[in-house]
Amino acid sequence: MRIVGVAGTKNTGKTTLVTRIITELRERGFHVGTVKHAHGGLDVEGRDTWQHKKAGAELVVGTGNETLFNLNEGLELEEILNIMKYIKNLDFVVLEGFKHSPYVKIATSDFLTPEDDSSTILKTVDVMRLDDHDVVSLVDLIEERSFGIIQRLDCKKCGFESCQEFRTAKISGAAGANVQCVTDSSDVLLKVDDSFIPMNPFVKNLVKKVTLGMVESLRTEEFGAEDFKKIELMIKNEDDR
Ligand code: SF4
Repeated sequence: MRIVGVAGTKNTGKTTLVTRIITELRERGFHVGTVKHAHGGLDVEGRDTWQHKKAGAELVVGTGNETLFNLNEGLELEEILNIMKYIKNLDFVVLEGFKHSPYVKIATSDFLTPEDDSSTILKTVDVMRLDDHDVVSLVDLIEERSFGIIQRLDCKKCGFESCQEFRTAKISGAAGANVQCVTDSSDVLLKVDDSFIPMNPFVKNLVKKVTLGMVESLRTEEFGAEDFKKIELMIKNEDDR
């Protein structure tokens, strides 16, 4: 799951650009998710869900034709991305806002101060002047330079000495489009308390094989899980009271 941001100052067309990038990525056959950074609350005052939250509910779910989860707290970007990876098999996530994220981004205006790191900005564009051909070129650039959640394992399996080297090479274009982090797959995820823990391919494979072997030896079909697609396992590391 690769990540790209759209960042800029207010009223410079960030949402317009995000929607154009989504449309182009979808036309290329990719599955796309988005994360929007909002400074205030997202729910509308007076709505039923808002009232549930105000009464003290820590998680509010509104469902019908769509399902909206409203967790009454802000999460760190990495945690949101890991949850998205877990819920949906996405090829790309487009971030709106998150000026200081470590992922590549397209800027809709100059927003950095002299102290900020400008290396993640692939291009600064004037959204009002972008034609369809420009958007195609922009998405080509995104496909080439973007990368997924930084794993911090330094396992060297991508051909670089460290995750930081890999990241720098992706941003600059030196790595090429086809080089990606090999541990950034969503088939096995490990969450310990509130933290997602990266695993190298060997450990991932081991966990997957052992768990699948164990579950396949159980009578899952008797409990309504014949051709299962996903296994969730929770282990409590505390004494029973
Ligand atoms: S394969 Fe992924 S985790 Fe391993 S060094 Fe490369 S970027 Fe880091």
